[in-house]
Amino acid sequence: MNQTASDLPQNHQPSERYDLVIDGQARATSEYQVVRNPFDLTAVGEVAVASVADVELAVTAADAAFRSWSSLADSHRSDCCRKIANTLEEHAEELAMLVTLEQGKPLDGAGLGSRFELGGCAAWAMATADLHLSPKVLIENDELLVRQMNVPLGVVAAITPWNWPLLIAIWHILPAIRAGNTVVIKPSPYTPLATARAVLFMQEVLPPGVVNLVSGDGNVGSALSSHPKVKKISFTGSTPTGQKVMSAASSTLKRLTLELGGNDAAIVLPETDLSAFLEPIFNGAFINSGQTCGAIKRLYVPRELFHSACVELAEFASKQLVGDGRKAETRLGPVQNEPQFNKVRALLKNAIDEGATIFSGGKRVGDGYGFEPTIVGVPANSIALVQKEQFGPLLPVIPYDSVEQAIGFANDSEYGLCASVWGDNPEQLDQVANCLEAGTVYYNTHAELHPMVPFSGHKSSGLGVQFGEEGLAEFTDTRVQYQRLASPAGH
Ligand code: NAD
Repeated sequence: MNQTASDLPQNHQPSERYDLVIDGQARATSEYQVVRNPFDLTAVGEVAVASVADVELAVTAADAAFRSWSSLADSHRSDCCRKIANTLEEHAEELAMLVTLEQGKPLDGAGLGSRFELGGCAAWAMATADLHLSPKVLIENDELLVRQMNVPLGVVAAITPWNWPLLIAIWHILPAIRAGNTVVIKPSPYTPLATARAVLFMQEVLPPGVVNLVSGDGNVGSALSSHPKVKKISFTGSTPTGQKVMSAASSTLKRLTLELGGNDAAIVLPETDLSAFLEPIFNGAFINSGQTCGAIKRLYVPRELFHSACVELAEFASKQLVGDGRKAETRLGPVQNEPQFNKVRALLKNAIDEGATIFSGGKRVGDGYGFEPTIVGVPANSIALVQKEQFGPLLPVIPYDSVEQAIGFANDSEYGLCASVWGDNPEQLDQVANCLEAGTVYYNTHAELHPMVPFSGHKSSGLGVQFGEEGLAEFTDTRVQYQRLASPAGH
């Protein structure tokens, strides 16, 4: 029962099955898992669960495709990436609906829903098509020519999470194949459908075996990340899983890019007129209902602004409708899955037990994992809601007494993904930004990304860089060629 993308119905049916994709073909398995809409828990499709034997087949197909794919002209691979961008654009509505159904985010929401995600997929694919890693001449004289170039690695295992499922898949797949590698991708078991469909669409423009897909849980991820023929693991997910992936990579010294957890701090500077920043701070925190690695997860405000900040943010939050992502009026989707939903509620309960105050929200919405955007006034920086990555629709607001104290609070974290500083005084913005331990520091904005701007996590937020030429180079090894042109005297 092999299918190609063009055989598939354009209208999504809940009973639809999503197969593995191996060596250019959809491949059925003996086991399928139901994927549910997290807002109402209805079934939206069934996805194949790969066995260890399927992982073996996928890696073998990718390994076999590597030789010819890596020796194609660079311009050919660039054209393929451009064609993938066009394919994603052509099927954007169908894929956006799948993301909404499986992930829960609204189609549009506050402009940052699944249609935005699909726009990002096409934009990143197109930008990756235009990237080049040109060979460099390091030394050139009468006697010696030394050149440096980038060579592809082989099979790349891409392992992705459930928050921005298709965009993150594109962030892994496109630079890998652009640089001449082949890929086996494993999406999250919570959100595999859009990735499975997109990978099937890619087969129309790629040779067989260049991009393969195996779906399943952590066992499939583990089989993939420990496979000796996998040369690099490109992983986005939580820090504890990233640590397991790093161990699995060690025996064959696989290259690694790890984009892990975050607990981004935002600092509002003293004497700032908060009214201008209310909406961008809210959006920076509640993008994708807070389920974004680089979202604001804790907000530090001067003590004299603490109460008004909580009240004004709460007023804004209470106007945001949480609902079914398919409905036009929905602004925010649900928490994506049950363990995450339970984690969010437990952290909120613990915060209340520790003396925190709910200024808005705090309640479940609907029969699934919908949860109101919740503004929490927090008396102490040490409570779990502030210290842990809550990854949900909660924003703790914490008062500070001096800018030095705010910087200390912000940096008191194992994470170092992004941070932001908000105010009107450019010198003070610079002074504080320079002290923050994070891969990206924003001024008066948060959670913005660009395909040409490197993105990386400091501390336990990751290893390596994504995007731009620096990100592309992560999918290669450096090769140097020394050429002796004339023997110097005496040799
Ligand atoms: P997760 O770590 O639970 O899972 C991520 C992926 O790893 C899934 O596909 C999962 O099936 C797989 N996996 C699980 N066990 C594995 C194992 N032993 N070996 C290999 N793979 C395994 O993360 P999640 O809950 O899906 O995603 C949320 C996390 O992702 C948050 O911590 C968030 O901050 C992080 N994230 C980071 C970035 C970034 O760019 N830094 C972006 C998005 C999400």
